[in-house]
Amino acid sequence: MYINTTGLVLREAPYRESSKILTVLTSTHGKITVAARGARRRGSRIAAAAQPLMLSEMTLFVHRDRYTLTEAQPVELFPGLTHDLARYSLGAYFAELLEAVADEDVPNPELLSFGLNALYLLSEGKRDMRLVKAVFELRIMLISGYAPSLAACARCGEPANDPVLLLDEGALSCLRCKKPGEAYEKLCEGSLEAMRFVLDAAPRRVFSFRLQEPALRRFSAACEAYAMHQLGRRFKTLEYYKSVSEGIAADGAKTPPEKGKKPEDTDKNPAP
Ligand SMILES: [Zn+2]
Repeated sequence: MYINTTGLVLREAPYRESSKILTVLTSTHGKITVAARGARRRGSRIAAAAQPLMLSEMTLFVHRDRYTLTEAQPVELFPGLTHDLARYSLGAYFAELLEAVADEDVPNPELLSFGLNALYLLSEGKRDMRLVKAVFELRIMLISGYAPSLAACARCGEPANDPVLLLDEGALSCLRCKKPGEAYEKLCEGSLEAMRFVLDAAPRRVFSFRLQEPALRRFSAACEAYAMHQLGRRFKTLEYYKSVSEGIAADGAKTPPEKGKKPEDTDKNPAP
């Protein structure tokens, strides 16, 4: 049986001599594993589509719950990600997060549409990447059913005084109300307001706000720590993004380093 769907490639792995195994988030079947036969062969008709962060109209052959990519037409290329290593590596982290929360064979149009929206903004390059990253981390927890409860202090019921986010409980607390040894991130008025906005906003408006330092730093730290804590695992792509963005900040350079060079191996930063 053949099916037509729209799919975003989240991950690729080489398979046999010239093929790939893809993890694809589709509009109709949720997350699926797809064989892309011959995708690494020169002149392959599916090569362009069989790459991470590529969105395509796909025709899949389905046999015994196995999917094979037979035809694909790329529809969205996110061109801004291609030549910017920091943006690309953040996009790869978004893909790994999407893969972590998506269910196999269960369509989740909200998740796909949110992921595409975030990649589009990242590619466009007009917004602060730290803000896009933090909004993505928090909103994806909401879509997956792990939204923190931020109405009032979970312990005393009052509006939180010196607010902190309790990472295990997914709740707000006053600094003095939290128990000793509980994992938490400090918040402030601005970062708390930003978190509430991200949880309440309509899908189209969720990225539409600005935040100044130091609230942006607290918002970023809290959203990342919360997602990592709730998902209970590490993300290689996040570690790579951090090494890349710190390297770029240290160099003051915005271009990706030469192939085969690590970001820190530049002339401006000679090894001691
Ligand atoms: Zn309290």
